[in-house]
Amino acid sequence: MNLLIMGLPGAGKGTQAAKIVEEFGVAHISTGDMFRAAMANKTEMGVLAKSYIDKGELVPDEVTNGIVKERLAESDIAEKGFLLDGYPRTIEQAYALDETLKALGLKLDGVINIEVNPDSLVERLSGRIIHKETGETFHKVFNPPVGDYNEDDYYQREDDKPETVKRRLDVNIAQGAPIIEHYRKAGIVSDIQGNQEIDAVFADIEKAIAAMK
Ligand code: ADP
Ligand code: ADP
Repeated sequence: MNLLIMGLPGAGKGTQAAKIVEEFGVAHISTGDMFRAAMANKTEMGVLAKSYIDKGELVPDEVTNGIVKERLAESDIAEKGFLLDGYPRTIEQAYALDETLKALGLKLDGVINIEVNPDSLVERLSGRIIHKETGETFHKVFNPPVGDYNEDDYYQREDDKPETVKRRLDVNIAQGAPIIEHYRKAGIVSDIQGNQEIDAVFADIEKAIAAMK
């Protein structure tokens, strides 16, 4: 099964992606995670990406399209299927993805569109914490780690600072609408109400995926 998950920053894409991957065994392809790994390793691409990410801007399409194409061409994808998370984020990326999938003989089965009230996103992003060892995402209030936890084991993302968050939301709201339209025309979008408990959102996603088969 080949899926795409969409939604504004903080909509819950990463949180739901982890659950989808666990249940359906698809490969998780998150451009944000790929950029953060490259930044941590200080690769040439990571240094370039950082100069955009720290300002809340998008990394240029040619860089982003390149890393996704490389990943989709790896041998596990045809077997397991994939879940793209955080890509495409511009209409040009959506067209590039169409071309890449065609060239690789792959097809999208569905687009999971998590809809949230933008007013709730700053609160979600400012409380987001990530476990240093596993990369698992939590929230200080809405989804705290189980039991007593040591704050030193978690980090907050540089780009989750309120000034950057506002810029990210503006950029993503402006770029997102034509992408969803593109997939609506293909009749493969499932809209999911994202302002619910994490497990309730996932239950709706499971239903949507079942209806795709
Ligand atoms: P979130 O969904 O919380 O905004 P991501 O982890 O998906 O976060 O992305 C973090 C940052 O990485 C984005 O703000 C952007 O700078 C960069 N990025 C991620 N995916 C893309 C993409 N498809 N195109 C361009 N830049 C991207
Ligand atoms: P995205 O990948 O779309 O940027 P995340 O999955 O990282 O979003 O979620 C952003 C923050 O909001 C995280 O701290 C996460 O724990 C929290 N969160 C995710 N889903 C929900 C939800 N349904 N209700 C409340 N908080 C949530």
